[in-house]
Amino acid sequence: MSDAPVVLVTGGSRGIGAAVCRLAARQGWRVAVNYASSRQAAEAVVAAITEAGGEAVAIQGDVGTAADIVAMFAAVDRHFGRLDGLVNNAGIVDYPQRVDEMAIERIERMLRVNVTGSILCAGEAVRRMSSRYSGRGGAIVNVSSMAAILGSATQYVDYAASKAAIDTFTIGLAREVAAEGIRVNAVRPGIIETDLHASGGLPDRAREMAPSVPMQRPGTAEEVADAILYLLSPSASYVTGAILNVSGGR
Ligand code: NAP
Repeated sequence: MSDAPVVLVTGGSRGIGAAVCRLAARQGWRVAVNYASSRQAAEAVVAAITEAGGEAVAIQGDVGTAADIVAMFAAVDRHFGRLDGLVNNAGIVDYPQRVDEMAIERIERMLRVNVTGSILCAGEAVRRMSSRYSGRGGAIVNVSSMAAILGSATQYVDYAASKAAIDTFTIGLAREVAAEGIRVNAVRPGIIETDLHASGGLPDRAREMAPSVPMQRPGTAEEVADAILYLLSPSASYVTGAILNVSGGR
């Protein structure tokens, strides 16, 4: 049986998460590819990893549902029997709205998926990785956004606030578990070419916003994955509580 480290990537079926899964496998991780509804996409990520000689499994679970999170980690336990890394990547936006137009249902869903889901997943990971629970240590990488700094006025201030919560959560959890063998860091992607913009009703957003980026282009999911894999890796052994902008200078 392989003793390669295991990483769980939430929202690993598409976009940045899928790029993280593929790169993690190339760098020797065994990968749990979580998805909410895109089963085919998740299985395609697993197939690509397997065909290249890696090991991966697709695990369905909505990180906005506590019971799904418990079941997802139990599936990782059953399949791999260990956990060394968590990438809290699953996240949603919504259609552009001003705050004075937002209904409570929208705001609660945004916070449940982006914030509560990430915190609950981190708790499950800590229970498996912390020396406090006889774990062998590990690394958590949270996916924030430059929106946490910029605020996303007239588009999705609720989303921006959810990502600011992720920044603070990263700092607090990093300090809480630093002496227990777990490093906790985050990346703040800028404008990245994925389906996320279409799901917020703005399919051309990445291309249209390119002139506002100092580097004059959107980033790719692979460029964000590179930063995430660095933070997961032993190369970042003295890095915790850090939040790395991956935003072309934005
Ligand atoms: P994406 O292309 O829309 O992919 C989202 C992924 O998250 C999919 O795999 C999706 O699964 C999964 N997901 C969504 N809701 C979920 C839930 N409730 N439970 C489990 N999985 C769920 O988005 P992306 O651009 O790669 O974004 C990934 C992360 O980067 C998000 O946290 C996002 O906020 C952040 N980010 C993105 C950008 C950008 O410009 N794209 C910028 C800054 C930050 P299904 O396939 O099953 O739907």
